[in-house]
Amino acid sequence: MATPKFPTVKQSFHAELKRRTNDYFESTGKSATGNQQLYLKAILLFAGFVFLYVHLVFFTPGIFLALAECILLGFVVAGIGFNIMHDGAHGSFSKHKWVNSIAAYSLNLLGGSSFMWNVKHNVIHHAYTNVDGVDDDINIQPWMRMSTTQPKLGMHRYQHFYFWFLYSMLYILWIFVLDFQKYFRRKIGEMPIKKMDPFDHIVFWGFKLAYIALFVAVPIYTLGLVSWLVGFLTFSVVAGFIISIIFQLAHTVEHTAFPVPHKETGRLEDEWAIHQLKTTANFAPKSKLISWFVGGLNFQIEHHLFPKISHVHYPALRKIIKQACNEFNVPYVEYRKMRHAVVSHVNFLKQMGRA
Ligand SMILES: [Zn+2]
Repeated sequence: MATPKFPTVKQSFHAELKRRTNDYFESTGKSATGNQQLYLKAILLFAGFVFLYVHLVFFTPGIFLALAECILLGFVVAGIGFNIMHDGAHGSFSKHKWVNSIAAYSLNLLGGSSFMWNVKHNVIHHAYTNVDGVDDDINIQPWMRMSTTQPKLGMHRYQHFYFWFLYSMLYILWIFVLDFQKYFRRKIGEMPIKKMDPFDHIVFWGFKLAYIALFVAVPIYTLGLVSWLVGFLTFSVVAGFIISIIFQLAHTVEHTAFPVPHKETGRLEDEWAIHQLKTTANFAPKSKLISWFVGGLNFQIEHHLFPKISHVHYPALRKIIKQACNEFNVPYVEYRKMRHAVVSHVNFLKQMGRA
């Protein structure tokens, strides 16, 4: 499949949004990257990660405390992904490039490849959101059908029942299967990945081995096979489910679109910014707790329009963008509560399984 193209328009909505956003930063004198609270949160999450790992692996807590700590570790790993890794990879965590690199590399420590993430997320998903055949986030085939353009199988009738199981498996699959598929196929979906230089190969294999040593070999040695397996499954199921559901709520709900490029020209209908607004949804914008934990991923509209701006500014940008959408008659999809978005996602899965 050829790479789709966005039409260039004379008076682009994107330019208008950029102008208004720049005005905001100029008038407030704020920097577009992260702030003190974000760095404090990053330290807290990282310290929590180290503490939980060391306590679980070397101090062997009792079974109930151990399970509780494994669940908490799942939350902490997802939190590091949302708040540190994701922002670092977008270059929005800090104004210093090296700090962003370290933040982005935290994914390697958690078992995922930062190289593959960069192509899958920053290049493909952010540009061609919800375009079937390109955006890897909606490719859970053949297990799930996430767009009307994907073939429908009998089992999809039940996907709104079994999705939670697949989402729970995401983290394990990501680390042990999907990264390696991408590595050996040299492709993400149908899109070829850029050439890896020797350093990329070393980072890929070095961190995969380090992860296996830290999260498989060492705990099996200190705890035994069964305790490790129970603990590892608990923590990775929690992390996998949280990561999957948060990313899916932003794009695969009833009110988002799945644009199809023109068969011959590969051209998409809308300019890039409007494409982003039609394919992306916010949820729970007023919840301080959710916003804190998911690192602004509940403000996906603002994130997709301005991925290089730190999520700490999204509540302010939301007002500006919502206002502009109202004026220009562009859709702005938002679910007031997280549970509304979850219901909409389940309804969407039901529709895709039956339509
Ligand atoms: Zn992103």
